[in-house]
Amino acid sequence: MFVREICDPVARLIGAKAGSAAEKALAHVGVATIGSLLCRYPRDWEDRSRRIPLKDFRKGPVCSVVRVLAHDWFYVGKVRTLKIFIEDDTARACLACYNRPFMKNQLAIGKDYLIYGDFEFKYGEIQSSAFDFEPVSAAPAAGGGVVGAKPIAPDQAPVGQVLPIYPLTKGLRMAQLRALVKQALDAYLPVIENEIPQNIRERYHLLTKAHALKAIHFPESMKELEKAKKTIMYEELFYLEVMVGKRAQAKRNVMRRTQAEMTPCMTRQRACDLQSMLLDRLPFSLTEGQRDAVADINKDMDSPYPMARLLQGDVGSGKTLVAFLAALKAVEKGGQAAIMAPTELLARQHAENAAKLLEPLGVTVAFLTSNIKSKGRKQLLKNFASGAIDVAIGTHALFSRDVWYRDLRLVIIDEQHRFGVVQRQAIMSKGDTPDLLMMSATPIPRTLAITVYGDLDVSVIKGLPPGRQPIVTHLALESNEDKVYEFVRAQLKSGAQAYFVYPLIEEGELDLKDAVSMQERLATEIFLEYTIALAHSKMDEEEKRLTMEAFRRGDIHILVATSVVEVGVDVPNATCMVIEHAERFGLSALHQLRGRVGRGTAQSYCFLVYSDKYTEDAKTRLMVMLEHSDGFVIAEEDLKLRGPGQISGVEQSGYIKLGLADPVEHAAILEKAREDAFAMLEADPGLLSGDHRCVAEVLSRAPPFSDVGV
Ligand code: ADP
Ligand code: MG
Repeated sequence: MFVREICDPVARLIGAKAGSAAEKALAHVGVATIGSLLCRYPRDWEDRSRRIPLKDFRKGPVCSVVRVLAHDWFYVGKVRTLKIFIEDDTARACLACYNRPFMKNQLAIGKDYLIYGDFEFKYGEIQSSAFDFEPVSAAPAAGGGVVGAKPIAPDQAPVGQVLPIYPLTKGLRMAQLRALVKQALDAYLPVIENEIPQNIRERYHLLTKAHALKAIHFPESMKELEKAKKTIMYEELFYLEVMVGKRAQAKRNVMRRTQAEMTPCMTRQRACDLQSMLLDRLPFSLTEGQRDAVADINKDMDSPYPMARLLQGDVGSGKTLVAFLAALKAVEKGGQAAIMAPTELLARQHAENAAKLLEPLGVTVAFLTSNIKSKGRKQLLKNFASGAIDVAIGTHALFSRDVWYRDLRLVIIDEQHRFGVVQRQAIMSKGDTPDLLMMSATPIPRTLAITVYGDLDVSVIKGLPPGRQPIVTHLALESNEDKVYEFVRAQLKSGAQAYFVYPLIEEGELDLKDAVSMQERLATEIFLEYTIALAHSKMDEEEKRLTMEAFRRGDIHILVATSVVEVGVDVPNATCMVIEHAERFGLSALHQLRGRVGRGTAQSYCFLVYSDKYTEDAKTRLMVMLEHSDGFVIAEEDLKLRGPGQISGVEQSGYIKLGLADPVEHAAILEKAREDAFAMLEADPGLLSGDHRCVAEVLSRAPPFSDVGV
């Protein structure tokens, strides 16, 4: 039996009978079966195996055998409170038993106990009010300690244990919970089967499942606990990767069929090499990173399997061009490509670039957003459906219900972290298993990428186009903003342009600068001689479009904005990025915003203006921005600060919390588990060999994660 197959109700255990408070408390945290009780691991362990005598109470929790000397009573207000005097070989101390007068029976005068707890020096005594104990003499104590634990012989003392600390459950005391788990272990361990193939278990010296379960709850020593943790983490990550590998397998099988059916109708192929035609027309050549990415993509698109590739490249690394080249490949093959971007601003910019770069090659391009209505829209949709349009560029509108494509062969999702899984699926469903290229400048660290997008291939564009100078970043206190403004003025004088970014659109309740008021102030008080315009998400799309166009042409010198300019906006003549209240922005937003400058050959600057009301985290973020320019490093730092669950898009992308393992923290184990899982599936796809049978059995009888929808 696998542990998840143990469906006997917890009510089978003594002390958790049907209808009891304990049973209800467990049900409340989702533990109804003994299997799930055993899979609810401790959040921490108390090491009572190492002795710390009373005199060393400052070194950590005391763990020592003590004798009870006397009982005394004192008053807290009107409440009579018990105080117990104790001593060990090194010192005397006392236990303050607030609200626990019954302790006088449990800690009897003259008897020995193993005491565990935090002590402090208070009122001239070494004192503890939070302690736990076990009898060392024959009489077992009810209540404290491990119920049912064998009393410890005095001569062996202190033979403490490592005790589990479970996440708190209202209505259930720790000691009760420990006793229940102990009972469950005693009763069920003998029937628990292994889930990891034996050869792998031996390779890493992992414990058997039964041993690991026993030791994760009640380890003999800290060393055994470490082994149990390692075993369980490996197992979790191994199955995570087995699922990922199986998904990839299943998809390949489906695709192979569809591809075979599709081949006969691939008649519309264009003879010419559109990619080379575009490259010949460019005033520059691809960077090495771009070339590698395009090679990866071409290889995928030529293979019989559909592409599923994540293209990561830092802000400004030139992903758009790679996307266009991929689109051309789809068109060469007689199909259509859709390029989806999260904002209308960005989609429009792509459409304009595509019109410039692709239309001269005879490729038809169209732009679709939800703002395109009635007649225009009807005609557009007709052209998508007839195949008159080769490349469709737009926002979410690209997968609206009424949009049909003749033969959507490639889906490109820019700034993919802005989209959820459902949206990704919606656009994919517009074609017959199209190739998928997802792009992001908010890199998901590799460790996370392989779990979240386990069945994706990843290409990374390293480096930026030549001639780019590193952006100079300065921190400035709000009170020094005049110096920043003066610096920007000098840049404007030399013909460059600037962005000013604010956390709010309009004046709000918070005492923060906002874009609308600051545009007014910058225009009327500070930069009188320059044209200043506003861009934010509440503005009319048409107005925003005209503003962006004017900014791009250089008719507008300063663009005052919110984080709408965060993604994708590309105006190489802008050299200054001033972010006010930089302490309010997250790391990835700061990095994206900074990436709006440094896109030409001129030296660019980023000013992070912060008010003195910042948190420690904010300070760390600003320091990271000052010290690092590499988006991957910044993403790793972000992950450290926020934890993986917080990284945008990750939650929706199927990232899940495992029992013990953390795919980021335990990346090294994850990589091993992945290698092993994939090697196993490659060598034995049906999981038929003796060693792999247990994996097949786990998947069919007790699939892990089935309750979290992986
Ligand atoms: P991102 O990767 O952030 O989406 P873009 O695709 O917007 O970057 O490219 C940034 C800028 O770099 C654009 O102005 C683009 O024309 C330019 N660019 C792209 N590739 C090259 C190259 N190989 N050499 C020079 N400039 C390039
Ligand atoms: Mg981009």
